[in-house]
Amino acid sequence: MPLPQPAAARRERVLREAVRQRLLDPEDALLAAFVDLDGVAASVANLRAAFPDRLDVLHTFAAKANCLVPLLARLRELGMGCEVASPGEFAQALAAGFEPDRIVLDSPAKTRRELAAALELGVAVNIDNWQELERVDALVGTGTPRSRIGVRVNPQIGGGSIGAMSTATATSKFGIGLADEGNGKRLVEAFRERPWLTWVHVHVGSQGCPLDLLAEGVARAVGFAERVNGELGRRQVVGIDLGGGLPVNFADDTTAPTFAGYAALLRARVPELFDGGYRLATEFGRSLLAKNGFTAAYVEYTKTSGGRRIAVTHAGAQVATRTVFMPDAWPLRITAHHPSGAAKDGAPVPQDVAGPCCFAGDLVAVGRPLPLLEPGDLVALLDTGAYYATTHFQYNSLPEPAVHGFTVDAAGAVRFVPLRRAQGIEELLRPVG
Ligand SMILES: *Cc1c(COP(=O)(O)O)cnc(C)c1O
Repeated sequence: MPLPQPAAARRERVLREAVRQRLLDPEDALLAAFVDLDGVAASVANLRAAFPDRLDVLHTFAAKANCLVPLLARLRELGMGCEVASPGEFAQALAAGFEPDRIVLDSPAKTRRELAAALELGVAVNIDNWQELERVDALVGTGTPRSRIGVRVNPQIGGGSIGAMSTATATSKFGIGLADEGNGKRLVEAFRERPWLTWVHVHVGSQGCPLDLLAEGVARAVGFAERVNGELGRRQVVGIDLGGGLPVNFADDTTAPTFAGYAALLRARVPELFDGGYRLATEFGRSLLAKNGFTAAYVEYTKTSGGRRIAVTHAGAQVATRTVFMPDAWPLRITAHHPSGAAKDGAPVPQDVAGPCCFAGDLVAVGRPLPLLEPGDLVALLDTGAYYATTHFQYNSLPEPAVHGFTVDAAGAVRFVPLRRAQGIEELLRPVG
C-alpha cells in the first residue's frame, strides 16, 4: 500500500514545513527526528494482511525499536500489542494503554518483582532460562496463572551478518539452547510437570539475519512444540511466538523484504503454523518503524582537512549510535537540503558527515558523495524511525532531540503531532537528591 507521494518528495515537504514552523531552527532546534504516522499505519496494515484472517495472531510491536508512549498508543489504536523487555518499556506499554493480555514480557533479566507484576496483571511472559523458570514456579505455586506463559528456545542454528544482532548462535545469551545435550528432554519434562506452560517463543535475531535463517528458527521452535505435544499426548503447547527480526533495506526507498514475502516463506517452510492448530504472536520492531522515520540536523561548519571535505552537523553518535560505532554494519543514507528544507541538487562531492561529539570517530558517513554542504544547510539521516533518536546515547551532555510525528493529507498539507519534546539544557542540571 504505497503512500500517495514518492518518499523523497514527502520528506522534502515535511522538512520545509518543519523549518517553516521552526521545529528545526539553527539556534533552538538543531536536530529533530520525524516519524511518518501514515507510513506506520500502512506498515501495520501490511503486516496484518500478510497473515490470513482466520488465524488467531497477536501482532506485538517490539517497544525497544521506538519506545515513545504516544507512538505506542498509536500502534495500539492500529490493533497492535506490545513486546517489552525492561521495567521501563513495561511501564511505557501500560502508560500507552495496552491491555495487559496484549503485552508480552521478554527481557533476559527479569527480576522477581517484574515477574510478579506481570503475572498479577496477566501480561504474557516468555521465560528465558532455567533459573527464571524456578522463579515463575515459586510465583505460580499451585495456582493457575492468568498470564500465558512460554519458554524462549534458542534453536542454535547460527547467526547472520551482524554478530551483535544474532540471537540463535550456539552460545547466545538468549533462551534455552535446544541443541545442548539433554535440554530437549529436560524441556519436555518441564512442560509435562507444568500444565500452565503453553507457548514456545523464538527470536532468531534482528538486522542481518537472512529470511531462511529466521524461518529455520521458527521451524525448529514449531518442531519442538510438536515434540512436546506428541510426547505428552495432549495439545499443551497452544501458541508459537515467532519473534521479530525482519531485516530492513537501508539502501533505497524500497521496502524489502516484505511481511507478505516472509509470511509466504513461513507458510512453505512451516505449514503447521498456518493450519489453525496454533495461536500466533509476532514481535516486529525495526521493520515496522525504520523506514517511517528520518532525523534532520543543521550543518554548523564545513572545512577541509588533509584534502578531505568535512561537514560538522548536529547529528552524531548521540542519535546514530550504531552507525557511528559500527559503520560497516549500519550504513545510513543521507540527503542534503537547503536551509529552507528544499533538496540540494548540486553535483555530488565526497564529504565526511560528522556529528557534534568530541571524539574523532563521530562520523555518520565517510567520503559520501553529496551536493556540497554549507553552513546552515540541513542533512537528513534516512530510515531512522527505529533504534536511532529514541535510543539516545548520553555523550557530551547532548540533550535528547524532539521527535515529531507527522501526517500528510490528500492536498499535501503536513500536520505535526508531538511524540517527544526536546530535552532542555536545564534538565541536565538537576541537582542530586
Ligand atoms: C529486539 C527484539 C525484537 C524486535 O526485533 P526487530 O529486529 O526490531 O524486529 C523482537 N523480539 C525480541 C525478543 C527482541 O529482543
